[in-house]
Amino acid sequence: MSTAQKLLSVENLTKSYGGIHAVRGVSFALQAGEILALIGPNGAGKSTCFDMLNGQNVPDAGRVMLLGQDTTAKKPRAIWRLGVGRTFQITATFPTMTARENVQVALISHAGKLFNLWTSTSDFAQAEAGRLLDLVGMGADAERPCGELAYGDLKRLELAVALANQPKLLLMDEPTAGMAPRERIELMRLTADIARERSIGVLFTEHDMDVVFEHADRILVLNRGSLIAEGTPDEVRANRDVRAIYLGEGLLYDARHREGASP
Ligand code: ATP
Repeated sequence: MSTAQKLLSVENLTKSYGGIHAVRGVSFALQAGEILALIGPNGAGKSTCFDMLNGQNVPDAGRVMLLGQDTTAKKPRAIWRLGVGRTFQITATFPTMTARENVQVALISHAGKLFNLWTSTSDFAQAEAGRLLDLVGMGADAERPCGELAYGDLKRLELAVALANQPKLLLMDEPTAGMAPRERIELMRLTADIARERSIGVLFTEHDMDVVFEHADRILVLNRGSLIAEGTPDEVRANRDVRAIYLGEGLLYDARHREGASP
């Protein structure tokens, strides 16, 4: 992979808390349109790693390059401006506003017009908000207040809000947390389809191995702060170190079990 094709490039990312090596010497790259999962047992360093990419945490050492720019230790807003969208474990929409208005706020913010909100820009991006809601299957709910929406719908709305920033990279921290199993697979399928179609790179952390092995193009496995494996779902599934960590916990998804499982 040449440097020009890399959307995100992480070199030797390192962070300690006192004697705890939360993240040690982690390096990886992500291409446009690629869906990359970051997995690992509890305390492996996933959140610390993620927060150093989105500017919420400053690494002790290492470098983060986004679209050829050094973004190490840049503030979250500066990183967002470069085209990094985020979704969170806990949904972050405005409950009294409609679904459409929530997307409009994101579009206006992206356009740098937030301070004129609802005055000169009240009609701003109405049509574009509608298009984004259609894209995530929420067109019929456009005029409903978010406070009335089901949890799964809020997650799809969040995706539309993240897309309003026209991201080149989406960072998704446990995007399917709190959802029913079927909804999880559907949300990630929707995300992956949109990302591939728009050449958006996606990095996501996830505890649900069904979601990970079904949708990731590649998987990074962290354990005790270090990257212990990296590869396609098949490569990672066959990796002995990974199996040792996950099989012991009964978590490693195996497609054969699923195919052979009785309903
Ligand atoms: P989980 O899946 O449980 O969310 P994780 O893989 O995201 O875990 P991190 O939250 O990144 O793991 O934590 C990695 C290690 O760093 C853990 O040992 C954790 O206790 C430690 N750690 C994380 N943040 C801090 C902090 N602010 N102060 C001290 N130790 C921390």
